[in-house]
Amino acid sequence: MFSALRTVSRSRGFASHSAVQGFNGAVGNTPLIYLKGISEKTGSKIYGKAEFQNPGGSVKDRAALGLVRNAEAKGLIKPGGTVVEGTAGNTGIGLAHVCRAKGYKCVIYMPSTQSQEKIDLLRMLGADVRPVPAVAFENPQNYNHQAREYAESLENAIWTNQFDNVANADAHYTSTGPEIWEQTQGQIDGFICSTGTGGTLAGIGKYLKEKSGGKTQIWLADPPGSVLTSYVESEGKLVERSGSSITEGIGQGRITDNLETFVKELSGAFTVPDNKSISMLYELLDTEGLYLGASSALNVVAAVELAERLGRGSTVVTILCDGAYRYQSRLFSRKWLVSKGLEEAIPEHLKKYIVLE
Ligand code: PMP
Repeated sequence: MFSALRTVSRSRGFASHSAVQGFNGAVGNTPLIYLKGISEKTGSKIYGKAEFQNPGGSVKDRAALGLVRNAEAKGLIKPGGTVVEGTAGNTGIGLAHVCRAKGYKCVIYMPSTQSQEKIDLLRMLGADVRPVPAVAFENPQNYNHQAREYAESLENAIWTNQFDNVANADAHYTSTGPEIWEQTQGQIDGFICSTGTGGTLAGIGKYLKEKSGGKTQIWLADPPGSVLTSYVESEGKLVERSGSSITEGIGQGRITDNLETFVKELSGAFTVPDNKSISMLYELLDTEGLYLGASSALNVVAAVELAERLGRGSTVVTILCDGAYRYQSRLFSRKWLVSKGLEEAIPEHLKKYIVLE
């Protein structure tokens, strides 16, 4: 019966997969999408790894599952325990799902500047959400420190510590990296993505670089207001953070332990301004039919630019991190775009998508 179903779905041109175990079994194995319109326009081969198709809706489902599995393997959490994390959103969403699927409690500390859609979703997923003032990492009131202290005050609880626990990058080294290698059959000149914790870039980068014998170049894409481009270009000088970006979940003021595992092996880094990211966000919708968040759009701008640097016709892969659903009240609002000085960045023929006041 099952094999008959598989044959039917295949004959209709749909991908076929075996059944998987629950939410956790559905994480990963995402499609690699050839971005046809953008590739043809630029003369390169640009691919996006469809991480928005993870069951919790983002690239962070992999990290969430990897962090919890690692703690279980080390005996740090037992049935009925509590998972605590400081997160700007997507890791919390992934953790909330994983915790429901495994029967753990989930407590999330986050900066109060994050979008209402993300806070609401976490609460709907049963997480105990604690928005706290957005202060720098050096401040003891920073959401990460509050998360750690709360976990330490409980029995049978873990602080997953997504920024500095390298089980995060390992999740990508053991899953996302091998999937990309297999999906491109090793024909990949460059990989580039932006980073928050650095887990995605470091884990995938390490795998692809090893597997290609150093042939695949790995680059970092940065939003404005992040220090990573200048850190990479100056070979290790950290500058004071200044400026800001409309992107969420990416950009850093320091080198996390996850990024540290790979930062010296990067071929380079560059910053993508918000006007290019927002324009690409609308173009991805118009030419590819993809409804994506701003970090994904930034990644595609960076992939096109990297392909140009590597030479005409080169193949570059990036990450499509999450969908626009969590940010739509901002990204498609004329008022908000004007307030950010970005309405004019959107080409005339794409302005029809600005449907919210
Ligand atoms: N894009 C979005 C929307 C995210 O939420 C995150 C995670 N903070 C990233 C990109 C970056 O992923 P990573 O933490 O693995 O660097």
